[in-house]
Amino acid sequence: MMLDDSKPSIDWDSLTFSFTETDRMYMSTCKKGEEWKSGVMQDYQELRISPAAGVINYGQGLFEGMKARRTEDGRVLLFRPEFNARRSAEGCRRLGMPPVSEEIFLSAVKKVVEENIRWLPPNGKGELYIRPLIFGSGAVLGVSPAPEYTFLIYAVPVGPYFKGGMNPISLKVSDEYHRAAPGGSGGVKAIGNYAPGMMPSQNAKSEGYAEIIYLDAVNHKYVEEVGAANFFCIKDNVIYTPELTGTILPGITRLSIIELGRSMGYEVHEEKIDIDFAMTADEAFCAGTAAVISPIGSIEHGGKITNYSNGGIGKITQELFVALTDIMNGRVEDKFGWTPEL
Ligand SMILES: *Cc1c(COP(=O)(O)O)cnc(C)c1O
Repeated sequence: MMLDDSKPSIDWDSLTFSFTETDRMYMSTCKKGEEWKSGVMQDYQELRISPAAGVINYGQGLFEGMKARRTEDGRVLLFRPEFNARRSAEGCRRLGMPPVSEEIFLSAVKKVVEENIRWLPPNGKGELYIRPLIFGSGAVLGVSPAPEYTFLIYAVPVGPYFKGGMNPISLKVSDEYHRAAPGGSGGVKAIGNYAPGMMPSQNAKSEGYAEIIYLDAVNHKYVEEVGAANFFCIKDNVIYTPELTGTILPGITRLSIIELGRSMGYEVHEEKIDIDFAMTADEAFCAGTAAVISPIGSIEHGGKITNYSNGGIGKITQELFVALTDIMNGRVEDKFGWTPEL
């Protein structure tokens, strides 16, 4: 097909992380017990779905999130998309859905970027956020896997997460709410994991915090995540992040920071992080696709407040942010092979 490369009438400078309708979406369906076949690209449109669809009634579904970026010299880069493919396949198995093969997943992602390429902001203005969804679309009355599944991908242009540079965020530890329990679905981007976090997060925002920090549901003392991002802290030049125990989402940004940190000569520990230890760290930040790295300025827990890096951005946090975003934006040679070109 002819790719539409006319520019959309949007002001790239006013982009935020919010929804904008784009041109094209990918769509495929698969019956229970069968394998996914490659789907079709179609105009962006609303869905027709049974009121008895598994996803609406029982939350049988998951999402992924990734970005395409435009380099200064005009190339289009993805970032480790095969990890989104693998993570979605693991999630499908946990949620009783047929896993989408890496091959089908990756070719669908590429098509969605190609056919929405005019929505990919210019270098430095933002990214094209790619949102794959896999869900039970067939009708089912009892609590059991749906008879049919839909894999779809849409894409949305998003602006830089931090307008006017990175701002350290204030966080609050929740002693009241947990995100996930051992044996549950915390390690999967299951759609059902996110609504229960909205009220605690909104409450924290109304008190002036950017997000809440969840502790583990068994001991109520080990840091798990920051809203929907992974947690890191740095003490005496050692980088720490909670180990993956099944209750923490295995972030691709998290994995990349661990690998990058080690390649830069830092010691990186994946282990249980007691909140009391985190409160004594020198630097702290959270990591995820949306913001890449958000420096943490302060954490409140049980009436005590720790301020990190004198309200600024920690030295190692900054170093990791620059190194990672340089690779993501194609400003340096990608020695790791993390950024396949479209
Ligand atoms: C998506 C997500 C992350 C970050 O994962 P990335 O692959 O780095 O985007 C972390 N925690 C939760 C709960 C998430 O949903």
